[in-house]
Amino acid sequence: MQNQTYKFEIMPLPYAYDALEPFIDALTMHIHHDRHLKTYTDNLNAALADFREYHNWTLERLLCGINCLPEQIKTAVKHNAGGVYNHEFFFSNMTGNGKKQPSGSLANEINNIFGSYDNFKQKFKEAALGVFGSGYAWLAADKRRSLRIITSVNQEVPITAGFSPVMCIDVWEHAYYLKHYNKRADYIDEWFNVINTETAEENFLNIYV
Ligand code: MN
Repeated sequence: MQNQTYKFEIMPLPYAYDALEPFIDALTMHIHHDRHLKTYTDNLNAALADFREYHNWTLERLLCGINCLPEQIKTAVKHNAGGVYNHEFFFSNMTGNGKKQPSGSLANEINNIFGSYDNFKQKFKEAALGVFGSGYAWLAADKRRSLRIITSVNQEVPITAGFSPVMCIDVWEHAYYLKHYNKRADYIDEWFNVINTETAEENFLNIYV
């Protein structure tokens, strides 16, 4: 996904809409992917349409180089490129048939930093519950390559703050409201069942390349 450039295309879900049932319902996935991600993608393309000099910029370059962009498209690109980046990361980081928890070096590092996977889940849930309004909670590596739990608001992305993301949960209400109404905690508990631990492990290993 990181190598895409204008004209951005909506990333197909890497699984069926109902693949995350019973934890995340198919209707939520349809609306989240087909409407929310599509809107970010369309709005990003619309913002960039008349600015050909940025048509070969990747999502990551647009986000990290946001201050180089013309004033009139800066906000639209930041919000919508962020929306595309975060959603593609979020959707790729889920699966209907993953392992219960990470293994290998990611598991070791989680145990080193948080004591155990259960402790990590507890801290991650607290962080995700603590996002005021809309945003995300992330497991990410900082500049010293140490794992941390961080949060971002709206469509802010961790890469612009120097973090390399390993996994994330979207806690915008659109991610859970149809099934859980206002109960974000229940959604977070169910989300732990659909983490794609393999992509998380890959993301973790790529930090050290
Ligand atoms: Mn979302």
